Amino acid sequence: MSDTLVNVPGTEPKPSSNQASAKLWRPKRVLVTPAALEWDHGRAIVERAAALGSDIVELKSNRLTGLAGEDARQAYVTAKTTLAVVVAPPGKRRLQPIPPSADWRVDLAEGCPAHCQYCYLAGSLSGPPVTRVYANLPEILGSLPDYVGKGSVTSRSPDRAQEGTTFEASCYTDPLGIEHLTGSLAATIAHFGLWQAPVQLRFTTKYDAVQPLLDLPHHRQTRIRFSVNAQPAVRFEGGTASVAARLKAMRQVALAGYRIGLTVAPIMPVENWREAYRTLLQDAATALEGVPELDLTAELITHRFTPGSKSVLNEWYPGSALEMDEAARARKTTKFNSVKFVYAPDVMREMRTFFEGAIKVHLPAARVLYWT
Ligand code: SF4
Repeated sequence: MSDTLVNVPGTEPKPSSNQASAKLWRPKRVLVTPAALEWDHGRAIVERAAALGSDIVELKSNRLTGLAGEDARQAYVTAKTTLAVVVAPPGKRRLQPIPPSADWRVDLAEGCPAHCQYCYLAGSLSGPPVTRVYANLPEILGSLPDYVGKGSVTSRSPDRAQEGTTFEASCYTDPLGIEHLTGSLAATIAHFGLWQAPVQLRFTTKYDAVQPLLDLPHHRQTRIRFSVNAQPAVRFEGGTASVAARLKAMRQVALAGYRIGLTVAPIMPVENWREAYRTLLQDAATALEGVPELDLTAELITHRFTPGSKSVLNEWYPGSALEMDEAARARKTTKFNSVKFVYAPDVMREMRTFFEGAIKVHLPAARVLYWT
């Protein structure tokens, strides 16, 4: 099957000695389905992984097998070292709204190689957390025009309407963390850049390998946000780039003309939290000094958990020091009748007041999109 992705000479991510740093993920095993091998994009992903030294396993059917472990922890370890190249079925290609971030969620992949002890994917994905990447990217991108002008977040908001119809690509993955293998993000950025319509691609990342994105024809139709946290919270983020590296990458993409953002998440009242978060905001301001035509947003997301995510995270990270104590939290029922535990109202108020004030002082150019 032939792909119709935008070809950007010189920007195709290739495994290189520079990129093969400790931070770049090299899956031990790559499972590829027969359907994925029918796509040029799927075959290119397999070739990149093979060049990095991954074992390639061509499956006989389109179902993923061989993911079970002796126990949940073992299944986790196996899954986190496995990349699956699959085809996104039609159901997955029907986009879902994703408030408060964007109009629509578009998935280029599902799963992530990092090891965050609060991972947002816990309890949302079924089965072991294998990283699945989609070979049929041309089909995924081909379905997007149907959604233009139809969203309920930026499309309908007087404050954010200038962003156009927004498509969020990091709900179920960290697309930059796997970009050296997939090339999907570069192709999607170029696709949006050349799309003559009021649309914007958005994604957030805890990685810093932005080099392959710098020369893309993005035409400011992509906002790259960096997920950052105060130093005491960063110890929960295994396998990611350091916050300093993320901020340096943020400067690089801003200088390359991208719209950018800070996703401060998950905000936690860690020890000396005011000082720790103030330092973070000051560091971000320093990283952005002198950037011309800066378009900066901030999204402020506090830590929360559900009974389901807590039980999955306890299996994945037994002995983690991450606080998930229901008794210390406020219980909330969502409109879908599920339960989540957030910080108590007085803690939330205190943290929100701090952030709104500190952002005005240290990052006056930032537009705060939401606090949650
Ligand atoms: S980077 Fe995001 S998706 Fe990946 S492990 Fe961390 S929280 Fe989960």
